[in-house]
Amino acid sequence: MNPFLLVVPVSLLMIAVELFVAHRRGVQVYRLKDSITSLNIGATSQFVITLGAFISVSMYTLILEKFGAFVWDTANPLTWVLALVLYDFFYYWVHRTGHEVNFFWASHVIHHSSEEFNLSTALRQSATGFYFKWVFYIPLALLGFPLKVFLAVGFIDLVYQIWVHTRLVGRLGFLEWFLVTPSNHRVHHGQNDYCLDKNYGGIFSVWDRMFGTYADERASEPVVYGVRKPLHSWNPIWGNVNHYVLIWQAVRSTPGWRNKLMCVFAGPSWQPAGATPLPEFVPAQFERFDTPAPPWMLWVGLISCALGLLVLCYYLAVQKNLGTGPSLAIAAGALLFYFVVGLLWQSPRIQKAAHV
Ligand SMILES: [Zn+2]
Ligand SMILES: [Zn+2]
Repeated sequence: MNPFLLVVPVSLLMIAVELFVAHRRGVQVYRLKDSITSLNIGATSQFVITLGAFISVSMYTLILEKFGAFVWDTANPLTWVLALVLYDFFYYWVHRTGHEVNFFWASHVIHHSSEEFNLSTALRQSATGFYFKWVFYIPLALLGFPLKVFLAVGFIDLVYQIWVHTRLVGRLGFLEWFLVTPSNHRVHHGQNDYCLDKNYGGIFSVWDRMFGTYADERASEPVVYGVRKPLHSWNPIWGNVNHYVLIWQAVRSTPGWRNKLMCVFAGPSWQPAGATPLPEFVPAQFERFDTPAPPWMLWVGLISCALGLLVLCYYLAVQKNLGTGPSLAIAAGALLFYFVVGLLWQSPRIQKAAHV
């Protein structure tokens, strides 16, 4: 069974619990359009990644069979613990590269595109990272860790990160020293100056402490969630390709080969010499993205989201037995569906209807 099939109901249950607790505390941590978009982005990534995973699986297997140095006893728990710690170490570098190299940021930015922070934000996973991330894990194949160990610890690393996307859990004492927690992951999702390029860990925050990228949450300065170049869209497909388009436009409009390369491979905030400096970020002045929508559109959003998740569950359950053609057809149909729903949210006619 595809383990991601379990992630769908478990995530929905966790979201329901978070909503309930927030309601009891009288705080609002969800906005409907944002959360529906998060779920749609999560589903989009699964439709693509379920197919794209064959790249990482084939490459890992190839390297393992040709160059795997050691044979590991999978009955020994230490094998799994060591593999998990090493995986998390390489995850730190995948994630850090995803923030500090513009081309890879184009893939990861979707995870940071929400201006909210709740359990649904965790589901904003990229649909475009599958083709390069496996490269960072080559050392695990060279060390000879079996494919099933690699896949299992990768799954554990990803699933661990769901619960840290919440505003309802405060600081966790000594755990903050070595684990990724809601508090230090809130910093990771912030766009305040002190939050930028901080806290890249997956399960362990020790890597951030070792490599100088750790920052504690500040009680004196509430975190403003989101990114400096906001997505301003509810469209999961646009969210996945938007930053690639921005890079392409920057490459075309920037003179000089060196500068063009820097547009792709320098950090996302890089600018050519002489460019107008970006405006200073003032947390108190930040306004979250929103668009008007009539109540019926919210129902359309909810129903389409539920429908998409049902199709996704079916797809995850049967995809192994489907041929490539039907798999591609279902995935392409799903992407088209999410694209159209995304267009509807921001249709000028529908926004106008909200004011009638
Ligand atoms: Zn990140
Ligand atoms: Zn996150």
